[in-house]
Amino acid sequence: MTTEDLSREIILDHYQNPRNHGRLTDPTVANRGHNPLCGDEIELSLQIDPSDNIADIRFTGRGCSISQASASMMTETVKGHTLDDVRASVQRFTQSMANRQAAPAEMQDELDALQGVKRYPARVKCALLPWTTLRESLDVYQHRDGAPHEDAEDCSDAP
Ligand code: ZN
Repeated sequence: MTTEDLSREIILDHYQNPRNHGRLTDPTVANRGHNPLCGDEIELSLQIDPSDNIADIRFTGRGCSISQASASMMTETVKGHTLDDVRASVQRFTQSMANRQAAPAEMQDELDALQGVKRYPARVKCALLPWTTLRESLDVYQHRDGAPHEDAEDCSDAP
């Protein structure tokens, strides 16, 4: 089996049997991402514990196999890790996809499977969508001002 075949098989497996699929009933933060080029959608819900670990993460979405497989792999990569670690993983993955470099050695074999996508530049955005959506989720979480969620309805700053 060639590396390319193996990569395709790994991606297909995650697409057909997505890990951590679904929605958390009471997430700490939830967020959506959209890739208009391909029509991919990703919805993330995260449970973040008081010591800033991602205790649980789920995703739903629709779109191409690359976007959904990447989301499945991402949830496995970041679950149980601290927000600092997760931000570092997001950055490393994003850079590896942008720079046409080999993925860092510490990344999982499964994420390496996505590196083949770089030969199809239009698909790189598909692979990155879950990761950028996650980064935005962490931004939302870490920039919250401590106000209770009940105030969320009041957040309009329209004149
Ligand atoms: Zn796509």
